[in-house]
Amino acid sequence: MRLAKDVATRAHAPYSQFSVGCVIVDENDQMHVGCNVENASYGLTMCAERNATGSAISAGAERFKTIVVASRKAVTPCGACRQVLAEFSSHDTEVFLIDLDGRQREQHLLSHLLPHQFKLESDSKPQS
Ligand SMILES: [Zn+2]
Repeated sequence: MRLAKDVATRAHAPYSQFSVGCVIVDENDQMHVGCNVENASYGLTMCAERNATGSAISAGAERFKTIVVASRKAVTPCGACRQVLAEFSSHDTEVFLIDLDGRQREQHLLSHLLPHQFKLESDSKPQS
């Protein structure tokens, strides 16, 4: 949680002034970090969670056990990030939301934040 708070200080957020840090703990208990990187075009802005995902996958991570997101208001990941995180997560992957003082505000299962993840192949039985 301290690392998530620290990485938030490296965010490039001159437009929103809303810094976010993310730490992903993988299946080998390795930690991967990301911060939000805004862009003058706005649409090219990348969230901390997706930058951390890229960092984790680039380092060889395959599954995400725990995700910590630090921000001023301890917000939940946006919808796009929930979908990206879910690609590498399990039904029991936990998401901890903390503020920039490092205080834990909320704890969720990612599967509860994104109950109907998009998948190319459905694992639900077809309705008859
Ligand atoms: Zn996002």
